[in-house]
Amino acid sequence: MFCTNCGNEIDDKAIICPKCGVPIEGKNNCVIKSSNVLIGAALSLFCCWPLGIPAIVFACRANSKLKAGDIQGAQKMAKTAKTLTIVGIILGLIYIFINIIQAVTSEL
Ligand SMILES: [Zn+2]
Repeated sequence: MFCTNCGNEIDDKAIICPKCGVPIEGKNNCVIKSSNVLIGAALSLFCCWPLGIPAIVFACRANSKLKAGDIQGAQKMAKTAKTLTIVGIILGLIYIFINIIQAVTSEL
């Protein structure tokens, strides 16, 4: 594999070019992943905002860490954001479910 920036030959496992410090293309998959995390976090905001807000904060931190080249830190942040998102959506669904049951039972 070769660096897309300077053309230096690099190890396949490398995430950043050791010569110029540019993140390796193809490893940028996590950029897309973290923007997915951001979308999920935004969705969880509608379901359960007390968890949606920190989820967005962590997703944004993941993006900025990624830009700074801190892939490990970004993955950690993205993982936290994902967990908050999933918990937020589940709690939100339970909340909606309870509301539906209450609406149905009150009409009887
Ligand atoms: Zn390079």
